[in-house]
Amino acid sequence: MSEILDAVRAGATADVLASLPMPTSTRAVFVRRQDADMFAGVASEDKDPRKSLHVGEVALPEIAPDEVYLAVMASSINFNTVWTSIFEPLPTFGFLDRLGKESVWGQRHAQDFHVVGSDASGVILRVGSAVRNWKIGDVVTVHCNYLDDQDPSSHDDSMMGSNQRIWGFETNFGGLADISIVKANQLMPKPTHLSWEEAAVNGLCNSTSYRMLVSANGAPVTQGDKVLIWGASGGIGSYAVQHVLNSGGTPIGVVSSPEKAAMLRELGCEHVIDRKEKNYQFWSDPHTQNEAEWRRLGKDIRGLVGADPDIVFEHPGRSTMGASVFVTKRGGTIVTCAATSGYMIEYDNRHLWMKLKTIKGSHFANYRESWDANARICEGLVVPPLSAVFPLEGTGEAAFEVHHNRHEGKIGVLCLAESEGLGITDHALRERVGEDRLTIFRRHA
Ligand code: NAP
Repeated sequence: MSEILDAVRAGATADVLASLPMPTSTRAVFVRRQDADMFAGVASEDKDPRKSLHVGEVALPEIAPDEVYLAVMASSINFNTVWTSIFEPLPTFGFLDRLGKESVWGQRHAQDFHVVGSDASGVILRVGSAVRNWKIGDVVTVHCNYLDDQDPSSHDDSMMGSNQRIWGFETNFGGLADISIVKANQLMPKPTHLSWEEAAVNGLCNSTSYRMLVSANGAPVTQGDKVLIWGASGGIGSYAVQHVLNSGGTPIGVVSSPEKAAMLRELGCEHVIDRKEKNYQFWSDPHTQNEAEWRRLGKDIRGLVGADPDIVFEHPGRSTMGASVFVTKRGGTIVTCAATSGYMIEYDNRHLWMKLKTIKGSHFANYRESWDANARICEGLVVPPLSAVFPLEGTGEAAFEVHHNRHEGKIGVLCLAESEGLGITDHALRERVGEDRLTIFRRHA
């Protein structure tokens, strides 16, 4: 371990960090270009992230003027690391090569390795010459919107940028490493009442759900709205539940086990549907959907909350979209950010147009939305759904768990943090939020 990273772990001052030399390489989790075809002919569910994700040393390039080197204390697993590791729907090297063609600084990303990871909490080690608002020693979390501020289309809403990217998925040197490279406009203050790993899991999923359900750019929830949330104890779903409750809405959470249902109830989601127990068969065969089953879901929702949902929070995709469009109330909105079970979607358009419903696409969040979503975490109004923690060497195993839906909430990964529970500085706030509330997912896992 290098001197500067030892110093970070020991909580050294900014002056000490500034006086120590920067390493020229870092331990990191990466996939290799040479492996891009390794799962050819293998079914998606059998593609194994443990075989494609490697942990080793990679060279660190120089930082651009608007970037920082971040000592990563903890990171997390997102579904995008699963996609990268199984090379679906495309190997991510194409994204890196495209970025490589944009500029001299972009060229640093086009490597034969791709360091993955779109979340981090940590300490700033160095700042580029154009960084104004952050300094060495600052304790931060990161959001993953990697934007081009010279693109005019970025300037109303940076998610509209024509070459907007996700850090650690469409760029290199992501968060699953001891040192990563982060643009200054991705940085946010670390919540002081949380440990490194609790603080590291929120950036991507919390911001995504915030844009979908709170921001005017999504389908903002208002008092009394009924919101159906698929995968309500998963990564984005567990934040979605909390945002709906905070906005005065009523979440109806869909999960797949009694344990997950109990966890959601403890989070404050009174109405829960166990889809396994209900055994919905929305598809009678791979080409035919079953309207009677959509109707059965609708009836179950009305049985719980007395009305059709104003908003459906969609992401499973092909397996559920037909049902989601059907059950949404007249004039309501289906807001979608993904298609885990398949992106070629089918639904009955008559139910959409005749009942004046809207399907709204959403993708991650701009800096403002991410900052506001992080502020709710800093205030303790949203708690991190951390359910398990792995060491950096266990990233493949952790991604395997997420790939096979064997996890709840979020999985944290320790990078430089030597053990769990470190990094908390505001114990009074932690007490006010409540240890029990902060550990709901950990206790139920
Ligand atoms: P996650 O932690 O794996 O949670 C997803 C949950 O969805 C699962 O726990 C599962 O819950 C439920 N689910 C999975 N397949 C389903 C199916 N066929 N039918 C019904 N429910 C199903 O993943 P996540 O982090 O929440 O991400 C979910 C998706 O959103 C992923 O595809 C991810 O790539 C995408 N995403 C997109 C963005 C964006 O910015 N566009 C951001 C974050 C995530 P139960 O088994 O309990 O029902």
